[in-house]
Amino acid sequence: MNLTTADITELKALLAYPKGIVILTHRNPDGDAIGSSLGLRHFLEKFGHVVKIILPSEYPTTFHYLRGIDDCLVFDNEQSRSFEEISKADVICCLDFNALDRVDKMGPAVLQSKAKKILIDHHLDPEPFADYVLSDTGASSTCELIHQFIHQLGEMEKLDANIGDALFTGLITDTGSFKYNTRPETYKVAAALKERGVDDYGLQDKIFNTVSEKQMRLLGHCLANRMELVPEYSAGIIALTKQDYVDFDIKRGDTEGVVNYLLMLKGIEIAAFIREQPTIVKLSLRSKGDISVQEICRNHFNGGGHKNASGGAAYAKLQDIIDRFKAVLPKYVDKKVPVL
Ligand code: 5GP
Ligand code: MN
Repeated sequence: MNLTTADITELKALLAYPKGIVILTHRNPDGDAIGSSLGLRHFLEKFGHVVKIILPSEYPTTFHYLRGIDDCLVFDNEQSRSFEEISKADVICCLDFNALDRVDKMGPAVLQSKAKKILIDHHLDPEPFADYVLSDTGASSTCELIHQFIHQLGEMEKLDANIGDALFTGLITDTGSFKYNTRPETYKVAAALKERGVDDYGLQDKIFNTVSEKQMRLLGHCLANRMELVPEYSAGIIALTKQDYVDFDIKRGDTEGVVNYLLMLKGIEIAAFIREQPTIVKLSLRSKGDISVQEICRNHFNGGGHKNASGGAAYAKLQDIIDRFKAVLPKYVDKKVPVL
């Protein structure tokens, strides 16, 4: 879904005078969620708008380098202030999510609000709750679409290195450093941002070369002790128990990227990273090619996302979720015929 010419005209009128704007993104915000939110915020502030970003839950410390990240409200920590900001907003921008259950208890408040709602996103199956929708599942990232949004508004001269750093962050994280989800447009956006002064190597270094000793040892533990392969269905699983969370003092963001290691194995095309959390078991799935982990998450794990990267969660025992994942594999992955 693209913005129509009429949408653009209306949006220009809407944004022509200073407004109170709330930017929302999804729970467990990643580089794209945070980058698109900050990039859009810095852009909108250039018009004199008063902009507040609300993150449903805490963000990984990796992204501390992004200007303005400290001013984000975290709903889990400041619920009443978050509701207050939503209720007084003139405009609500929903970035990098497709369904209001991704913003937890804020969802009903957004639905009730009289504010104009703008959805900019690249997940499959967007819910129809917004007045203006820029949804493109072919886009590498929401950051790529924020660039398009700025372009469509005819405001490219406002795009500075500060906005660029935020948007480039989402390009890097949602494409695994330009390894997947790319299209020609992705590289055009990257080039445009670099032209405006983005230090791409500096960002890659900040994002990937800041792993703590604890995280590195945890990765070793995942690979050495918690990995199981199901070769006949090209699958790999890493499962962490509640006790692992205690033993390794695992905090938000510490397990970022672990799931991708499974896809480095020859013959592995679908990867599951399953975590036993205090009340829920959380699951991250990744795949190659035609295997749709989005369908698996949607049909079996109350979740969704993208064809090759999705997540979900369930109130169940860790072993039950591992078993459920193995049980559904034959429905989605061709069985390998052993070579005799
Ligand atoms: P991750 O596995 O890194 O948490 O998320 C991968 C992708 O799946 C992201 O695009 C994320 O938005 C989406 N995703 C993760 N968890 C859920 C979930 O519980 N529900 C839905 N609908 N999407 C999810
Ligand atoms: Mn994204």
